[in-house]
Amino acid sequence: MELAILRIGSVNSDVVHQVKQRLSEIFPKMVCVILDSEMPIPREAYNAKRKQFHSSRILAEINQHVEKTQATRVLGITYGDLYVPRLNFVFGEAECPGKAALISLCRLEPEFYGDPSNITLFVERSVKEAVHEVGHTLGLAHCRAPTCVMFFSNSILETDRKNPSFCERCRSLVVKYCSVL
Ligand SMILES: [Zn+2]
Ligand SMILES: [Zn+2]
Repeated sequence: MELAILRIGSVNSDVVHQVKQRLSEIFPKMVCVILDSEMPIPREAYNAKRKQFHSSRILAEINQHVEKTQATRVLGITYGDLYVPRLNFVFGEAECPGKAALISLCRLEPEFYGDPSNITLFVERSVKEAVHEVGHTLGLAHCRAPTCVMFFSNSILETDRKNPSFCERCRSLVVKYCSVL
């Protein structure tokens, strides 16, 4: 199984490489690659009133991109701030189960909250959100355990509280659904 990482718009390549590395460790049987070409952020996804991008529209574009690659799954990474109707923002979105996943780095940077730059924390948060969305593509729903990576975080505090790994129950589901661990 191959997971291709697609940069959407300009994205810090150091962070993308570190996320890729960590995903390969967390999913040892999944081959992770970074696609050479980046995809521009679809203009039609932009909502000028909200100054945010409609996550589901970008996800639809990613889905089309999957066809052009050899990958089983594609994880899009963008700096664009994402939303879905009825929520003021989302850290990411994915098909559940499916092939397309998306995360935004915008609200994962400590600077977004007025905190000093911290690349280690930034990467850690990005890895958690990436594993969470990839977990959805494998068919996992949200988990009630606050420390499980499949916990739905609605704030950065909730992201910081959870681990980048699956709880025992979610882990057994991943094993059941597909052989990536
Ligand atoms: Zn989720
Ligand atoms: Zn769990």
